[in-house]
Parts: sequence; structure tokens; C-alpha cells
Amino acid sequence: MSTRALFREDAYLTHCEASVTAIDEQGIHLDQTVFYPLGGGQAGDAGTLALADGTVIAIADTRKAKFEGATPDDAVHVPAPGQEAALAKLAIGAKVRAEIDWERRYRHMRLHTASHLICAVLPYPVDGCSITSEYARLDLATVEPIERERVEARLSELVGGAHAVSTEWITDDEMSARPELVRTMSVKPPMGLGRVRLLRIDDVDLQPCGGTHVRNTGEIGGLRIAKLEKKSARTRRLVLELA
Ligand SMILES: [Zn+2]
Repeated sequence: MSTRALFREDAYLTHCEASVTAIDEQGIHLDQTVFYPLGGGQAGDAGTLALADGTVIAIADTRKAKFEGATPDDAVHVPAPGQEAALAKLAIGAKVRAEIDWERRYRHMRLHTASHLICAVLPYPVDGCSITSEYARLDLATVEPIERERVEARLSELVGGAHAVSTEWITDDEMSARPELVRTMSVKPPMGLGRVRLLRIDDVDLQPCGGTHVRNTGEIGGLRIAKLEKKSARTRRLVLELA
């Protein structure tokens, strides 16, 4: 039932052809997919699966599949409510065209890349993060005051600087030898596949990340800090929105 995670190599793929490998209470499993499953703080993708006969199944969410021997790449496509009639036409082995809600995903990509810029501007450990199409929320483990204007100005510089964003791979052993690369306390590096993907923003940031990102910081566009608050004695919460 293993899934080939096409978004890992190319986050800009909006659709792919795939075969149904299983259908169970979790949802629909495919041999390959462009749908990103909820993880690393980033929301799962929504979209559609279209059958050859024109039947369309609305997908509300994508999650990591749970089964014996599942890898972090194994995804399950969760049908939206009310899809029973369409689902009845789906069989194992069926060919489908899997297409993500690109508008929503592109916002995830812009906000996720922006959250890496935050790591560069505010180099505190991240103690929780959530990236949706509406906002990126980061909990930073610090007691230092955070100046909204200074952070917004620095983010604007980094977006305007049009830094290239790229990925590279290292082995699990190399990752274990470089713990300083890990910024997030709450999200473990995506290990277990024998290799870990690093996300590099030229001259700005380098950290393990399996999420989807834009190719250049210039694509992020305007950003604003919608909320900045003390979450606990040791944590500051920052909510970032696309301007
Ligand atoms: Zn990331």
C-alpha cells in the first residue's frame, strides 16, 4: 500500500494519474499522489479524485496512513461527507486523476516558507507550529520581547531579497550527527525513510523539513503579524498572515 510522494520532489505538481491500492475506514490509498498529508505542522491537502467515467470524489483532507509497516510517505485521502454514491463506484486497481485544491495549497506553500523566514529572524526553538491556508502560527520558546515592526521589516527584506529555496537530502545518520539543524522541539525531523530532506533558503536558513515550499522567497508576497502574544511564561505565540 506504499505511496509515492510526488510532492516531495516537486511541490508545484497540481495533479497526477494514480491507481487505487486500498479503500478502508481511513480513506483512499493510492500508489502515488500529489496530496500532502497533514504533518510537520502543515495542513493536509484537499482536492478531487476523478474516475475515468467522470465520477468525481471530493477529498476533504489528507492524513498519514496508519498500517503495519507504514512509512511517513504513506498517505490516505479522506473523502468529504456525502460522497457515498461516488465512492460506491471506486474499486481497488481503479485509475484516478488526483488533483489538489491548488489555491489552498499554494497558500500553504507561501506561509510554510514564511515560517522558515521567522526561524531566521527569531532564532528561538519552535515549540509548536500550525500552517493552514489562513495563517502560520508559531510558538517560540523565548522570554525575550519580540518587536512586531522589526520582525515585519526583516520579513519584508527577506521576501524582497528573492532568495532561492531548494531541497537536499542527507542520511538519517548524518542528520543524527547534526542536531543543531533541528529548530523545532515539537516536530521531529522526518526520519525513518533512511534519508532526511533539508530545506535550504539561500543565505537565510537550513533545516530538516518535509513540507511543501515555494521556489523563491519572492513568491511569498506581503506578510503581516496578525497576532503576537505571550502564550506562557516561556513561550511567545506569533501568527503570520498573507497581507
Ligand atoms: Zn518547513
